[in-house]
Amino acid sequence: MNSASSAFAIQRSLNDVEQEFDVVIIGGGITGISVAREAASRGLKTILLERGDFGSGTSAATTKYIHGGIRYLEQYDVAVVRESLRERRILALGAPHLVEQTRFIMPAWRWSKPPTALIGAGVLLYDTLAFDRNLRAPDSLRIPHPRWLSRSKLLTAVPWLDQSGLQGGFAYHDTLNVHPERLLLAYAKSSAAAGAVLLNHTRVTGFVSTSSDRLRIEGVAVTDVLSGRDYTITGKVVVNAAGPWIDKVLETLGKGTGVGVDRSKGVHILTRPLGGPGRVADAVFARAQSGRHVIVSPWMGKSFIGPTD
Ligand SMILES: Cc1cc2nc3c(=O)[nH]c(=O)nc-3n(C[C@H](O)[C@H](O)[C@H](O)COP(=O)(O)OP(=O)(O)OC[C@H]3O[C@@H](n4cnc5c(N)ncnc54)[C@H](O)[C@@H]3O)c2cc1C
Repeated sequence: MNSASSAFAIQRSLNDVEQEFDVVIIGGGITGISVAREAASRGLKTILLERGDFGSGTSAATTKYIHGGIRYLEQYDVAVVRESLRERRILALGAPHLVEQTRFIMPAWRWSKPPTALIGAGVLLYDTLAFDRNLRAPDSLRIPHPRWLSRSKLLTAVPWLDQSGLQGGFAYHDTLNVHPERLLLAYAKSSAAAGAVLLNHTRVTGFVSTSSDRLRIEGVAVTDVLSGRDYTITGKVVVNAAGPWIDKVLETLGKGTGVGVDRSKGVHILTRPLGGPGRVADAVFARAQSGRHVIVSPWMGKSFIGPTD
């Protein structure tokens, strides 16, 4: 995709890449693409390099949840929750075809940890922090206040829950991004329309640096994976947005940077609708006795079960 393309005509060309850019971005996940969009829309000459396809790393394989970070309240990370809620509102208003308001249910059992009263306090705090959630929202996107569901109402909505010790549940609204790869491509198109050059199947193999300590980065060496040709791209600023592989990219500097990443994988299961056909309207955010949480979300008429990051 390049700046000459319209938002809908995608081209891939490395013909003019050997020139100086203001910003060179490594990695075409949601982080890199968002940086490209921000930079290009501020008039900076921007290029993004992705070794596979856009979003092929972590960003297209999420739990499909655009959340305001309710569980970060357990870590008292109120600032992160507030920021996430603000971004959630912007995404829901800007891309309502991709970011869907969904009712979430947090069941409470007698053994729940944190205990039911504390979960309730968390849900109320979450609602308070989302004080501007309906600002300029059309009626179809307005989010109601959370409420308590009695045990029987909860079981009507979510019949597959373990009933022993079940007290009821908290219903609140959050957002699902049913197709994260489409949201990412929407950002990619928007970046290209703002003038960014986005190249997929282009692997960064090293950094360009003429300083003796190799601390001043002047660009990157890349290989076009499709043709096997090598190029050098220079830039005033190089952004390493390689997600879980940021340390691997830094290794090519040939000197220790002290950056280490513990990589892990999440598992998701797509299965029949757990409540029966047509009974998957709500997302359920449940916590096992072990303390691990799991989200069961509606996904195109099926149940999508997964951990989050
Ligand atoms: C199991 C799981 C579930 C999650 N669920 C959610 C969720 O529901 N909601 C949510 O908001 N967040 C979720 N997250 C977090 C979210 O997915 C990540 O924060 C986000 O995708 C990170 O994006 P990124 O662009 O930083 O990384 P990535 O998407 O991994 O992008 C990095 C890119 O860099 C590229 N790259 C690497 N090396 C090179 C190189 N040498 N040259 C060129 N390119 C290179 C990779 O190919 C990759 O595409 C989840 C995470 C996990 C693991």
